[in-house]
This record gives sequence, structure tokens and C-alpha cells, in this order.
Amino acid sequence: MSATAQQKQPAEREFFIATPEEIRAGRVTDVYFERTKQILDARAIDKQVVLEARVKKLPYGDWGLFCGAAELVHLLEGQPLDLWALPEGTRFAAHEPTLLIGCNYRQFAVYETALLGLLCQASGIATKAARCVIAAEGRPVWSFGVRRLHPAIAPMIDRSAFIGGCQGVSCVLAAELLGEEAVGTVPHALILILGDSASATLAFDEIIDKRVKRVALVDTFGDEKFETLENAELLSGNIYAVRLDTPSSRRGDMLEIAREIRWELDIHGYQQVKIFISGGLDEELIPTLNPVADGYGVGTAISNARVIDFALDIVEIEGDPTAKRGKESGAKQLYLCEKCGQRSVRLFNDELKSCPTCSGPVQPQLVQFLAQGRRVRELESAQEVRRRVLAQLTPER
Ligand SMILES: [Zn+2]
Repeated sequence: MSATAQQKQPAEREFFIATPEEIRAGRVTDVYFERTKQILDARAIDKQVVLEARVKKLPYGDWGLFCGAAELVHLLEGQPLDLWALPEGTRFAAHEPTLLIGCNYRQFAVYETALLGLLCQASGIATKAARCVIAAEGRPVWSFGVRRLHPAIAPMIDRSAFIGGCQGVSCVLAAELLGEEAVGTVPHALILILGDSASATLAFDEIIDKRVKRVALVDTFGDEKFETLENAELLSGNIYAVRLDTPSSRRGDMLEIAREIRWELDIHGYQQVKIFISGGLDEELIPTLNPVADGYGVGTAISNARVIDFALDIVEIEGDPTAKRGKESGAKQLYLCEKCGQRSVRLFNDELKSCPTCSGPVQPQLVQFLAQGRRVRELESAQEVRRRVLAQLTPER
């Protein structure tokens, strides 16, 4: 930029977010795509290309969960292009094709930035959620972390976490958009304002809808063990669980604290009362607490999960396989063997009929969502996607 570049008057905005209309108009774009379009427009260059999204390196382990396709459909619907992608909740590995777009490049260029942003973040969150769910070995994991990120994206965060296998989400709006009940207990603030944990538990029991499970928070003022017993006695054992939200300063003792609470609950006749743990949890910490915890609230580890670095590259121009160095050219399909699980990548027009390893039946994984901008596939509900994700995760338990 030159020093003489004219400074524009900044536009005023209450919240620094792009509107859905601006995103769909291609305004959330890196300027180099806009300039590319300007040049192609000036020269009237209409090249039909195929773009492919794939990942070179995954942030967690050797697989990712594909998430964000529903928003991609809403971004690109009505544009003159074809969109093929993995269905949401599909597992993929590095170097596998996950998405294909057939388009006139000058018409598509300004959407690349938004497309990658939608895909990279949602897939990162869903993947991390799934890893926490696996770590919990069947115990429920709830998404409690929207407070760490911009509120405008809370519904996306919680939807991705839910798709990744979380049993519920804490954000009221996100839960409403998912068609789920929001999940939560009581904050430390309520206990501080009412004076003690017992008053908060009694007030909750008196005022809050009886369908909401009673979960007492037991680490605000006193010892977790004594607050647990006090709360259990208050409601005559009619509490569903206690929640430990002990700060990281006591993290080393968490397992022992929880064990002690379990012991005291059991010998006082409260065997049915569960122990939930929250506060700075992640996939490494969860397995260490599994011997005694019955469920987890996970915050930042899921909501601020590392993004998955999808790259979108041209692999075909006017029907000819063409790609930059380091990328394999040609539009490709990913096949999964239904019998042995073998994964095979083939050129799109070189259909794989059976598994090269076991001759079993194979399923193409990339499915068409848009044909010349027209939707040709129903979008699944988050519940349907989540069910499929959990079915994929189960064998790893
Ligand atoms: Zn096979």
C-alpha cells in the first residue's frame, strides 16, 4: 500500500460482525480474490475449473470430522456452480478429497475466503468435541464454552460441538436453533448472591421447572465433600448430581476430591447422585477422571478448538487435470469399503467398483449438494448427523 493511498471513512457498526447478506454477497473475501475477479472480468476470461478442498496436516491425531456443509450450501445456493462434499459428520484423513466445486472461476473467486472459514472452524470444533466424547468413554460431555468466543458465532460453535457428539449445549439460542433443551446447573454468582450453596439449591428447587434436573454446585465456599452432603440432605437425596468446578490450582487433587465425594455419598445412602466435573477440561484430562466422574462440561477446549487447515486448490481447468506443485491434479472421489474399511482415492471419472483389498462393496463418500446452484440433496438435521457420528466413534471406545 502506498503512503498516499486514500484513507476511507470507517463504517460504523455496533458489533463487528459481517451480516449473512454481506457474506453471501462475497464481501468477506481477501482482496486478492476481488482483484483476481477484476482482472478476469476485464479480460472476459471464463475458465471452467474444479476446485478441491483437502488437508495436508490435521491438528489432532490422524482424522477429522467434516462439519460446515450446511452453511456452505446456504453460502453458494443460487450460484452457477456444482458442489460436492462429504456429508457432515464424515471422518476424513489428510490428503483425502473432502469437497469439490465445479465453477467458472471468476464467478466463484470472492467466495473462497468465506467458504474456508465456515469449513475450517466448524470442522475443528466438531473434531475436538468428538475426541472429548471418545475420551469420556460413554459418559456425557456437554458444550459449555461459548463464552470464550464472539457471541455472534455461538450457534455455530454449539451446533458443531453437538454434531461432534456432545450430549447438550449450554447456550439458550444455540439450543433453540438445534431443537434441544439448553443444559446447565447454577453459576457461582447465584451462590455468592444468596449467601451459600444450600440457599441456592433450595431456591433452584423451589423456582425452576421440575423437569430440569437438580444439580448442586459444591465448591464455592466450603469443602466439596461437606457441601455435597449438605446439598444431598437438603433435598432428601433428590438431587440428580453435584458439579465440581474446582479451579486449576487444585487440579492435581481433582480425582481424589471426586473419589472422596463418591465414597461419602455412597455410605450416606446417596448412591444414585452423580458427579459432574467442569472447569478447564480437555481430552487429556478427561480419562484421568473417568474412574469417578459421571459427566463433563467442556468449555474452551471445544469452543476454541484448533481450526482444520483446509486448502482449496484448482485441480482441473476446462476438463484438463492441472494443479500447482505439491497437489495432485484431477477431480477425485473418496471410496470407503463397507467390509474392511479400506479408503481409496480415485479420479472422479475412474469409478471404483469394489475394494482393491477385499473385493467388498465400496461407497463413494463425496455427495452432490448443488447442481448449478440448485439444491439436489436434503440437508440433514444436527440430530441425524450426530447419531451417525456417534455410530462411527463407538468402535474406538
Ligand atoms: Zn475392503
